Amino acid sequence: MSDLISSNNPSSFLKKFFGAGIESFESWGRYPKVQNQNEFIPYWLNEAIPYSSPLLAYGLGRSYGDCCLCDNGTIISTRNINRLISFDKEDGIIECDAGISFSDLLEFIVPHGWFLPVTPGTRFVTLGGAIANDVHGKNHHREGTFGRHIIELELLRSDCKSLILSAGNNPEFFNATIGGIGLTGLITKAKIKLKKIHSAFIDAETIRFGNLNDFDKLSRESDSTHEYTVAWLDGSSRGKSFGRGHFIRGNHSEEGALVPGKKNPSITIPCDFPEFFLNRLSIRAFNETYFRKPLANSKIHYSPFFYPLDVLGKWNRIYGKRGFFQYQCVIPETAGIPAIHDLLETGIKLGTGSFLTVLKHFGELKSPGMLSFPMKGYTITMDFPFEKLKSIELIKRLDAITRSAGGRVYTAKDAGSADDLYYSSFNIEKFEKFIDPAFSSNLWRRVKRSRV
Ligand SMILES: Cc1cc2nc3c(=O)[nH]c(=O)nc-3n(C[C@H](O)[C@H](O)[C@H](O)COP(=O)(O)OP(=O)(O)OC[C@H]3O[C@@H](n4cnc5c(N)ncnc54)[C@H](O)[C@@H]3O)c2cc1C
Repeated sequence: MSDLISSNNPSSFLKKFFGAGIESFESWGRYPKVQNQNEFIPYWLNEAIPYSSPLLAYGLGRSYGDCCLCDNGTIISTRNINRLISFDKEDGIIECDAGISFSDLLEFIVPHGWFLPVTPGTRFVTLGGAIANDVHGKNHHREGTFGRHIIELELLRSDCKSLILSAGNNPEFFNATIGGIGLTGLITKAKIKLKKIHSAFIDAETIRFGNLNDFDKLSRESDSTHEYTVAWLDGSSRGKSFGRGHFIRGNHSEEGALVPGKKNPSITIPCDFPEFFLNRLSIRAFNETYFRKPLANSKIHYSPFFYPLDVLGKWNRIYGKRGFFQYQCVIPETAGIPAIHDLLETGIKLGTGSFLTVLKHFGELKSPGMLSFPMKGYTITMDFPFEKLKSIELIKRLDAITRSAGGRVYTAKDAGSADDLYYSSFNIEKFEKFIDPAFSSNLWRRVKRSRV
């Protein structure tokens, strides 16, 4: 049985866009910096108002690179389009506006015994942003990407047409929009299938491992017994300690109350740290201390299990004003652990070493989106302070390893990878047929630059 939670008429829906002004929008990595981005009333919601294209939707700006940025363009901030529209409590089907955050969704669904089918490592993302990057989580080996759980979505195009898309209705447009990095138009709402839970807690276990082969063994064993698996890696150790880390695995618990987590971060970093704060030595010291911390195997609430970084608001300020970049790629099984070894080693030798490094084995469930990132293999993420030319060279070197391994880079994290990695990974010509002519982004212009 569906019950309607709130229903705004179209005119009040349009009004939510009226609050135009000029604002500075940044990505989570704060690199690259952008110029002249306006927040604007999209003209196609009120044809009398001219717009200045290119346009681009912006959720909560939790993408690290430039897929959510639009130099000299117009940002459509979706933060006020955030209604829960309907909820079927029996079957766990929910329909919401695209600007709703995962944090707000969880607060509503957890007490009813439902959970997100797939969640990234922060709950401060919007539904639209999660669809547009077709995000993945610690259960990729069981559930694939978020896009697999979308029943239907609505897409507003700049010609004022609204399209209802699903696997059965205009499937190619649907597949272009899932993982379509906002280029096919504005996702206004979506209906998703949730996951049943009996408790808000996770039976979690953390195991220390000594090298990448041990990670691989643990990961393969755990994929059949655990819904959630991921590893933290020491991103700065060489020699005997190289490739060591913590393997984290968990299942939804059968016991414990259905209580949602805190809505907001406990502490917020008040200002930018000085740039020297994160350097080779401090990053190494952090990794060393973290590796040696006592490990507990216990029942923990879903918040610290899925979203450990969310306790600190604006933690990206730790990198200072220069910002940082996260390199995330996926390496197919055929190239496997040796390529991961090379990526990690390159990050340590050429960069400062990675402050936060995560490794995960992706399963074989096919991603629905034309530009969806995940495929069967290993995905690694490494965070580095941005150091101008040094960082550009580091990205080049990491790209070279990804390229020769037949891997892909992730749109949500990319801030400067080579365009050919997109062309070798995806059918760009096919995807381009679905791009809204009024939409673009810094990432897209970068990918296209050498091709025009
Ligand atoms: C701490 C942290 C951990 C993370 N962990 C993971 C992880 O484990 N797995 C993972 O996959 N990702 C992860 N991410 C990345 C994050 O999930 C994605 O970047 C996500 O897309 C961000 O959502 P957002 O709402 O902030 O979108 P934004 O970053 O604002 O935008 C992302 C893209 O979506 C488009 N977009 C946004 N809203 C709409 C809309 N309504 N219609 C059309 N297009 C739209 C934008 O144009 C842009 O191209 C993590 C990020 C952080 C900061």
